[in-house]
Amino acid sequence: MHEWALADAVIEATSSALAGRNPSCLRGVTVTVGELQAIDHEIFSFALRTLLEERPFRTAEYHLETEPARFLCVSCEKEWSFAETRNLDDQTREAIHFLPEAAHAFIRCPFCRSPDYRVQKGRGVSIASLTLDSSGSCA
Ligand SMILES: [Zn+2]
Repeated sequence: MHEWALADAVIEATSSALAGRNPSCLRGVTVTVGELQAIDHEIFSFALRTLLEERPFRTAEYHLETEPARFLCVSCEKEWSFAETRNLDDQTREAIHFLPEAAHAFIRCPFCRSPDYRVQKGRGVSIASLTLDSSGSCA
């Protein structure tokens, strides 16, 4: 499943980021999930916890944060958020969450109605920060 593949990639990225450090000193990882990323947070968290069991940094806590979507209009250069996108019914919002690539079929710039805009934020999954213990044997 999609969530499991993403969780695996996040765990791998954590492992790479820890290169040269004692992995058991890792305390927390903050993971940013884009608002438009079609992902079930519960399944994703469960996948992270499960995959973490096999790693030397298994005691680390993963925190998920949602990154709000930001759109930038190419025509009028104004920015807006997903919440500010007008004329979308609940069903359409659901469709966009499920398939972010479909956003262009539904969303227009709320200022000039142009369909020519960029999704600047709110897509994908990334590691925002790692927290390492700096006391005891980790100092
Ligand atoms: Zn515009």
